[in-house]
Amino acid sequence: MSRRDGPIIATTEVIVVGAGISGLAASRELRRRGKYDVIVIEGRDRIGGRIHSDASSFPDVVIDLGAAWIHGMKNNPLVDIAKQCRAKTYRTDDDNIIMYNARGEEMRHDELEDAEGEFLRMLRGAEKYANGKNSDLSLRRALEGSAGTKNLLKPLIRFQLSSYLEYDFGAPASQLSAWYYDDDKEYKGGDALFPDGGYIQLLQHISRGIRIDMNVAVESIEYGKGSGVLIRTNRGTYKAKFAICTLPIGVLQAGDVKFHPPLPDPKIRALHRLGSGLVNKVILSFDACFWPETTQYFGVCHDAPGKYSYFLNAKLFTGRNILVTVALGDHARAVEAQSDRDVQAEVMRILRDVFDANAPDPTRLLVTRWGQEVYSRGSYSYNKVGATRKDFKVAAEPVDGVLFFAGEHTSADYRGSVHGAYLSGIRAAKELWDND
Ligand SMILES: Cc1cc2nc3c(=O)[nH]c(=O)nc-3n(C[C@H](O)[C@H](O)[C@H](O)COP(=O)(O)OP(=O)(O)OC[C@H]3O[C@@H](n4cnc5c(N)ncnc54)[C@H](O)[C@@H]3O)c2cc1C
Repeated sequence: MSRRDGPIIATTEVIVVGAGISGLAASRELRRRGKYDVIVIEGRDRIGGRIHSDASSFPDVVIDLGAAWIHGMKNNPLVDIAKQCRAKTYRTDDDNIIMYNARGEEMRHDELEDAEGEFLRMLRGAEKYANGKNSDLSLRRALEGSAGTKNLLKPLIRFQLSSYLEYDFGAPASQLSAWYYDDDKEYKGGDALFPDGGYIQLLQHISRGIRIDMNVAVESIEYGKGSGVLIRTNRGTYKAKFAICTLPIGVLQAGDVKFHPPLPDPKIRALHRLGSGLVNKVILSFDACFWPETTQYFGVCHDAPGKYSYFLNAKLFTGRNILVTVALGDHARAVEAQSDRDVQAEVMRILRDVFDANAPDPTRLLVTRWGQEVYSRGSYSYNKVGATRKDFKVAAEPVDGVLFFAGEHTSADYRGSVHGAYLSGIRAAKELWDND
């Protein structure tokens, strides 16, 4: 018997591929409507996908290795879920920051404020410059064209370009579309994270009562109008009337999962026009705290801005001596090729320059490598040069009335976020329902 003819191990009405927030939101919505039997199949041995609340690497504390913040507390549906499951939230304050120059000297607060004004003006200039062009170009080229390369080298401008903009949008400015990099929406009301127990609490809450088959790796999805869906996995074949596919953009672009027949050409082209971004975190815990305890963030204007310029002081909300920093832009990929020991040496050099030449090595260090995780292959989607909002919408379009799509990369308005992924799951469930 060929593998394609393997035994059918489960038959149901709806299969949801992926137990990230979008897949779980879709499953809950279908169950809430009371009509469908749903099975979620998940390649990993945990739910959450790019939400990974790590409870084992650091003693007595849960650290979010992927998404950590609810972005925008006003009208954000995640806030209600957090309340329902009584997850404690902690408001972070972006203005509670100390900036250091390359020599490790503290900078004045008004220097940063002035630079923030200048950076906004530069972005507006880049927008005007890009709008005057006949075709899309990268944000970096538009900034260089409008503000000049020299201005982009100013330490506080470089810091903001990297630690604010490239972090938010998940890609180097040289890849972001100058026309559309920021044509998404946001909720207002500040940001919050989960000091006790991590983001996973929300997923545990919404997944209650849903059948989730773990360690089931999808290899192919066969679909057809009137014939339903066959999903072939490492464990056997699942049969259903409908499927909701929440495979991440990086996994779809890599072609790890085959579709039979192949997805429509416009969808394939849209998926490849979009960017699959990358952001990595480095988490360090220490025996003692050698940084200002009550400050939320530290920014360091050194020569390689994507390389650990921005530090979150997790002591403020965990009570432990923990710092979290990020690898951004081009460095997000480069860090994945480095050993933990090399990463540690680089981060410690910066911390010793800034805080204490005798600062001890960390007792524990963890480096994420989201690009190498075969079930993620990246952090979040972005508008690459040449991509438009329409591409996110085409990525979301159902195929043949049986195969539906969710995931952060299918949300034109809220791509790259947990709330965008959550809302996309609800949207896909409704599409399925309306179509049945
Ligand atoms: C480092 C980092 C920081 C972030 N920070 C924030 C933040 O602070 N706030 C915020 O709002 N967003 C943040 N995000 C983005 C956010 O995590 C994502 O947008 C969101 O979690 C995506 O959810 P999803 O359901 O679309 O995809 P996923 O969570 O990736 O779910 C897809 C699921 O499919 C599974 N899967 C993949 N391939 C297969 C296969 N072949 N077979 C079976 N299963 C498979 C995966 O294991 C996964 O569980 C961050 C992301 C990263 C990586």
